[in-house]
Amino acid sequence: MTQPCGRTQPYPFPTETPVTNHPHAERLKALQAALASQQLDALLVTNLTNIRYLCGFDGSYGVLIVDRSGAFFITDGRYAEVAEHLVTCAKIDIQPLARTDEWYREFFRQRGYDRLGFEGSMSVDAFENLKGQVRPARSKLARTGGIVEQLREIKDPGEIKIIAKAAKTADRMMEAACEHLKPGVTELDLSRLIRRSSEEFGGEGESFANIVAGGPNGSRPHHHPGRRRLRAGDAVTIDLGAVVEGYCSDMTRNPVVGRVSRRFEEIYAVCLEAQEAALKAVRPGTPCQEVDAIAREIIASRGFGDFFNHGLGHGVGLQIHEGPRLNKTSTAVLKPGHVVTVEPGIYIPGVAGVRIEDLVVVTEGKPRILSRATKSLTILPT
Ligand code: ZN
Ligand code: ZN
Repeated sequence: MTQPCGRTQPYPFPTETPVTNHPHAERLKALQAALASQQLDALLVTNLTNIRYLCGFDGSYGVLIVDRSGAFFITDGRYAEVAEHLVTCAKIDIQPLARTDEWYREFFRQRGYDRLGFEGSMSVDAFENLKGQVRPARSKLARTGGIVEQLREIKDPGEIKIIAKAAKTADRMMEAACEHLKPGVTELDLSRLIRRSSEEFGGEGESFANIVAGGPNGSRPHHHPGRRRLRAGDAVTIDLGAVVEGYCSDMTRNPVVGRVSRRFEEIYAVCLEAQEAALKAVRPGTPCQEVDAIAREIIASRGFGDFFNHGLGHGVGLQIHEGPRLNKTSTAVLKPGHVVTVEPGIYIPGVAGVRIEDLVVVTEGKPRILSRATKSLTILPT
């Protein structure tokens, strides 16, 4: 039931949720099954990324309550039209901000949940408020961790299609960056060019602030692009990604300006060997820890073990970093539908760094590598 903004008599509350074959309906069903297995009557979803995943709403204020019988989306008048347009699998209720406390108290009282889950990412202020709202209903509050995030790890074919588009945009951004790579250009110049190109090539912007690290700056995995001018012989670590329809991409390459040093050639070859070996292991049933170990062992066996100081990769989706993690401590096992990065690196302080990163989909068979930009050592003329 949808209420026009400011209407003061919204009760009684809706009791059914529209049922469709929409992906959001499938996701809500999966969440309801998860709630049942955790003995929760309902989950209060406040994380906006999770809300977008479950019901499509992409505004900055809204709450989704999913219980065993349906889903209810509550926002305020600013988003009435957007919610009507995007949210098809939950009942929408528009409430002025000034009376949301009263609305929630009455809603929880009528629904009578015994155990209401809330997300651990909720702020302390919001939690204190929630305690007051559920008091009349005598509901027990249960802190949950990652229920929706876990569902988000497995992408459906529609999501994979969108991520593939985001990866294609990243390929084109890298191409544009390489075209402008020459001595005298600063890291900041390139960084700005990459940022602009994310929109020119069909993205909604960057999925994270790009990294452009020239020459010795390459040894800092998360270097902030600065005023240093590129010189002949510099290898440049470029880590970039785009957002398409809310989904992210992520890729790193290391083009070289002019003549390449022996030292760099050596670390690049080791990193590439490690990356390709790990990519081959991206198959269903492989523990994420094992994929990490494959790359790490190759790098260590060549004497660079101390210079690979981060995890091998991470899941990518509505957020740039999500599950599953590919690192030494990960307990996750790869499943079809996971979309992860494989990005080993070797960072030698004061000398140079290299990181090679691809975005890859776990399928029933061979891994599907979405990043297409060349990985042969790209040497650009000075
Ligand atoms: Zn990256
Ligand atoms: Zn990454």
